[in-house]
Amino acid sequence: MKESECIDPTSDAQRYERMLQVALEEAKAGRIEGGIPIGAAIFRKSGELLSRGHNRRVQHGDPSIHGETDAFRRAGRQTSYRDLIMVTTLAPCWYCSGLVRQFRIATLVVGESRTFAGGIDWLRENGVEVIDLDNSECRELIEGYIAQHPEIWNEDIGEI
Ligand SMILES: [Zn+2]
Repeated sequence: MKESECIDPTSDAQRYERMLQVALEEAKAGRIEGGIPIGAAIFRKSGELLSRGHNRRVQHGDPSIHGETDAFRRAGRQTSYRDLIMVTTLAPCWYCSGLVRQFRIATLVVGESRTFAGGIDWLRENGVEVIDLDNSECRELIEGYIAQHPEIWNEDIGEI
């Protein structure tokens, strides 16, 4: 799916699953590049894809490029973020949770939060609608990576 393409309005659950597939494609692209497999995408409420991105810490040697921040930057300037949906394969870290809160992104769809819960409870407390799809493919992708590269994962979340 490319930017400006649109997911047809069906049920919310189906829409969120299809949005997650875009983030998953990004996560897989990151893995192929040798990076941390976390992907994200930003959609308008209408279903239009605004941007997509993935973690590039390893690829670019840049610790500020998480999946969420990559998608955020690629979306360019937006007047308001209140009608946007951020989709990410893994619950966002504090850094990315701060981004969601700062720009008042209303809806956050996460692929899973068992591996890492990040700031989702805090986001819910702050009025963000958080939808956790508990997707096993997302979980297997990141858990496989963490098992192989625990030091890079810990570096990414600031736990070293
Ligand atoms: Zn992050």
